[in-house]
Amino acid sequence: SLPSTLDYLLPPGDDSTCGSDNVKVYVRVRPLDTRGESGDGGPAAKACLTCPPGGGRRTVLLADASRSEPYTATFDQVFGPEEGQQQVFEAVGAQLVENCMAGINSSLFVYGQTGAGKTHTITGEVERGPEDGAVCEDTGLTLRIFRQLFDRITEDEHDGVRFTVKCYNCEVYGEEVTDLLAPGASGLQIRDGDQHQGIYVEGLSEHVVVNADDVMQLIQRGSANRHTAATRMNERSSRSHSVFTAVVEAHEEQGESGVTHVQFAKMNLIDLAGSERVGKSGATGDRLTEAKGINKSLTTLGRVVSALTERQQHVPYRDSRLTFLLKESLGGNAKTSIVACVSPSEDSAQETHSTLVFAAGAKRIKNRAVVNENTVGDMKALQLENARLQRELAKRE
Ligand code: ADP
Ligand code: MG
Repeated sequence: SLPSTLDYLLPPGDDSTCGSDNVKVYVRVRPLDTRGESGDGGPAAKACLTCPPGGGRRTVLLADASRSEPYTATFDQVFGPEEGQQQVFEAVGAQLVENCMAGINSSLFVYGQTGAGKTHTITGEVERGPEDGAVCEDTGLTLRIFRQLFDRITEDEHDGVRFTVKCYNCEVYGEEVTDLLAPGASGLQIRDGDQHQGIYVEGLSEHVVVNADDVMQLIQRGSANRHTAATRMNERSSRSHSVFTAVVEAHEEQGESGVTHVQFAKMNLIDLAGSERVGKSGATGDRLTEAKGINKSLTTLGRVVSALTERQQHVPYRDSRLTFLLKESLGGNAKTSIVACVSPSEDSAQETHSTLVFAAGAKRIKNRAVVNENTVGDMKALQLENARLQRELAKRE
């Protein structure tokens, strides 16, 4: 039977790892599938994951038959099956909007086994939702984030300050990078650019958006392209990583000088491949090779997380496309959040355990986010400066 109190199970001081410089790690428990987790209409699965009372909505307890003692871990927040998309947005997504407005990079990852709720959390049911940028119960974090972002931009835009928002969406599948918004563009290369650009995908199509409706169209197009590939290539969407990126720039003219102050922020929303193929035994021969190749990015993500938390000298970012692309989000110049999605079902206990272990490790990563800004003098500034110097000269003559 389950212990009635968790106090004796939690190592003292565990909470100290949830500081503001750390990667924020959340757990979202999906509802138990009433049709039976296997989807065969059999008896409803049994739950083995609980959020014990007194855990302050931060602790989860995993107690399944294969375990002599329950596994427990503490996170920044745990969302139970009854908590909806708006609650997750308020706790997790709203911060990303504020980061964008303040010129701070942010990344949000959803991690977990296939079917645990990653796409539900980050994208939601876009095919079932309203056509335009309106929000319904199923709408995921991405559209909610952009709706609030455009509200904030409207508030902050005044004389001399204007914002631009550009979006990109790529997929990493078997170490190949494909543009989800410009089908046919695959085999793209990742480059390490200057301070302004950071790391970027060369040749990825850029989409300027001015409102949430524009973003909704991109989300729908991106998920349809991921989805189309899925039927053609056997569950491709569960084996690929989708990275939806927005670059938000605020340009402010400095009085008459013509000098523009630019503040910019990059936001990455990452729907990772299903974590169940990492280290899963039973796959042999070709299937094993295939599984390894396909998940090089996910296994490398695990190694990058370990290297960072163990403070190793060498962090293997360059060993996979995904970790290279998201280098800044892992121990670098970004505020990063991870939502670990899990099923409460006993059938999934092993996968849930490995997801929670990954998530507990990621809590210990420290990032260093700074405000991205620079001042650019344009032609007008040069002309004004030139005129001023000429006046000075004229005075002396
Ligand atoms: P993943 O992307 O991790 O493979 P999905 O997000 O596609 O998983 O979720 C699988 C199914 O479970 C979908 O039909 C989804 O709508 C449903 N689902 C997942 N999480 C929740 C949740 N928190 N509340 C309601 N339904 C959910
Ligand atoms: Mg998915």
